[in-house]
Amino acid sequence: MRHGGDPIGAARTQEVDGYAFGMLRILLVEDDDDIRMSLRRALTNLGDQVVAAASGADAIGRLVEFSPDAVILDLGLPDLDGTDVLAMMRSVSSVPVLVATARDDEREIIRLLNAGADDYIIKPYSAAQVQARIRAVLRRGGVTEETNSPTIRIGSLAIDPRGREVSLGDEVLTLTRKEFDLLYYLASRPGEVVSKRKLLADVWHLPWGGGDRTVDVHVSWLRRKLGETAAKPRFLHSVRGVGVKIVVPPS
Ligand code: CA
Repeated sequence: MRHGGDPIGAARTQEVDGYAFGMLRILLVEDDDDIRMSLRRALTNLGDQVVAAASGADAIGRLVEFSPDAVILDLGLPDLDGTDVLAMMRSVSSVPVLVATARDDEREIIRLLNAGADDYIIKPYSAAQVQARIRAVLRRGGVTEETNSPTIRIGSLAIDPRGREVSLGDEVLTLTRKEFDLLYYLASRPGEVVSKRKLLADVWHLPWGGGDRTVDVHVSWLRRKLGETAAKPRFLHSVRGVGVKIVVPPS
């Protein structure tokens, strides 16, 4: 990172995709001293104001006194469970909360998103990533009306149900309505094998007709757009005779 003459560090206003944000006040909750200090320093250098907390109890106190624009909440804290900290935060504030977690916590992530987290970020993450995520949440309007439909991330795949937008890495994918519905349905249940019968009922609102190929056809169209095939699956895995699931592909 550059210092001194860096125009980003000096600026009080930043533009992200045409949206302007002033300096943000960020509450960073992280018990790992190295991560907390380096991230705090990096975010400060990028132009934000950061208050750090190393425990859940400390975080609640800081939330009330600092009144941040956004919170980064590490799930693995020494004193309190991440869900409890989130619930306590939600009881006193509608501030956007990004939960930070390890990669293999998919079920926990879904649970936390359902419990009111606005988005999540996988460790290890950079300050620039955190900044971009926070601004994306704020841009979406964040907070209350957003909590029922946060962006779902499966590895490099991001699915935004509000904008009905899907991106794979930097590339925006163009999906048909049903392709999107199918992908979103599976992504809401990462790692869970969903039967074709259930997909037909829940995504197409159709009764099971036995030899119906609707699901298979849409899965194969989705695969093409995701750059994979049935023989070499990455995200979408068929389990013969059972159904299909979405997983985070190995990097
Ligand atoms: Ca931790």
